[in-house]
Amino acid sequence: MSEALLRIQDLNVSVEDNHILHGLNIEIGKGETHVIMGPNGAGKSTLGQAIMGNPRYSIDSGSIVFDGADITAEATDKIAKKGIFMSFQNPLEVPGISLRNFIKNAVEECTGERMRLWDFKKKLDAAMNVLSMDTEYGDRDLNVGFSGGEKKKAEILQLLMLKPKLAILDETDSGLDVDAVRTVSKGIEHYRKETDGALLIITHSTRILESLSVDRTHILVDGKIVKTGDGSLVDEINENGYEKYL
Ligand code: ADP
Ligand code: MG
Repeated sequence: MSEALLRIQDLNVSVEDNHILHGLNIEIGKGETHVIMGPNGAGKSTLGQAIMGNPRYSIDSGSIVFDGADITAEATDKIAKKGIFMSFQNPLEVPGISLRNFIKNAVEECTGERMRLWDFKKKLDAAMNVLSMDTEYGDRDLNVGFSGGEKKKAEILQLLMLKPKLAILDETDSGLDVDAVRTVSKGIEHYRKETDGALLIITHSTRILESLSVDRTHILVDGKIVKTGDGSLVDEINENGYEKYL
């Protein structure tokens, strides 16, 4: 049996006194790819936020253990340092800090090592090439004036540079044109090959999953996991929708 990388047990989460997640259990093994699907408002992003330790999301009971350590009450920066990265559904714009410096700081925070700007730039440019990004974007303020697709690429760029043990991707493929989805998929594949990291992918579409082999699919409805299956469950949902699980 493979050792669990992430073990979520009986997780109950509320946001501003509304109970959103009810008794969630998920176990992700090292290097596994899991998919979360579910209707809008089901609590998918809430799950990601709770794992990342966002203080607005209160964990009322249950536990989250990552790589052998209990991170249930851990702060976001500590969780990131332990090796979890989350790509947000709506990436923030940060005026005054360049994409390059933002990612450099994040990498240095996570590794605890300072890098020379020139060495870092070489690595960043190589990763930007994987994503067909113009390297001049490194000088631009993070996400300011970026298109939807460029913001999502900037998220995947962080993934490639941070090389986390677990990446949570929250609808990274939504709102993207066909070419951008392909580029984002290529970035995710690159991450899988380079790091053998695990993935928790929140998505509505199958396009991003085409090049990945899905180990488990979880259907989340009204804050509960109503069904868990293998990769074929994604196709079943795309054909028949959520109706029978509502
Ligand atoms: P999904 O990602 O599955 O569409 P969410 O996790 O975003 O669903 O939301 C689940 C429920 O929690 C919704 O009813 C939403 O309004 C509520 N919720 C999520 N985040 C917040 C927040 N920061 N403040 C208030 N309500 C929230
Ligand atoms: Mg969401």
